Amino acid sequence: MKTRFDIITCQPHLLTGPFDHSILKRAQDKGLVEIHLHDLRQYAINKHGQIDDYAFGGGAGMVLMIEPIAKCIRGLQAERQYDAVIYMTPDGQTLNQPMANRLSLLQNIIILCGHYKGVDQRVRDLFVTHEVSIGDYVLSGGELAAAVLADSIIRIIPGVLNDESSALSDSFQDNLLAPPVYSRPADFEGHAVPEILLSGNTPKVEEWRFEQSVQRTKALRPDLLTDNKNITS
Ligand code: SAM
Repeated sequence: MKTRFDIITCQPHLLTGPFDHSILKRAQDKGLVEIHLHDLRQYAINKHGQIDDYAFGGGAGMVLMIEPIAKCIRGLQAERQYDAVIYMTPDGQTLNQPMANRLSLLQNIIILCGHYKGVDQRVRDLFVTHEVSIGDYVLSGGELAAAVLADSIIRIIPGVLNDESSALSDSFQDNLLAPPVYSRPADFEGHAVPEILLSGNTPKVEEWRFEQSVQRTKALRPDLLTDNKNITS
């Protein structure tokens, strides 16, 4: 199965970099993911490239108009069925790992990036199926947030990572933070790697990693443990 992202933005240049490297690039090269950027200005209401206008009722800041966005979304929806039309917005549901897991099961996803004061409310009412925030702060535009969301989804699509168990052992997959990791040298200026990791005893290593995860979570994010009845001791 291939996952297709159609990202609608008035700043497409902000999104050319993030998908051209590393795992996100490899996912596309492997044919598992397609990313299509759509420049909102191509759908402008006039020859001046207008896509935004003043807010009714006054006040500072421009609003992305409904007509260009409607035209773009309807054009895409005429070509294929979409599982989600996601608007990136600070008042959306905050992105977390379970949400990324759920979205990674979808095949065709539109992501709409806002700008200025955001999009005309009627876009949200008529076209948007999901509203996602990447945290309680305000960015200038939805592009970086869209890249964060897409990355969190793409890396867990089956086949994207060379070793899928790697994603499963990351933080948040199990209500736990990840354990510490070490690589060579085994001793750096007197700072040695924990002995157990050099033992070759895989079950013991796994046990140690689990204990480290629990300790770390208790220390740094005890809130994660409250929902997990198995890991309270
Ligand atoms: N007036 C909006 C508000 O107060 O909720 C903020 C608009 S913000 C300056 C412009 C755009 O950036 C938003 O439409 C949204 O697409 C994006 N954005 C800003 N912060 C975001 C966040 N935390 N998560 C997701 N998108 C965000």
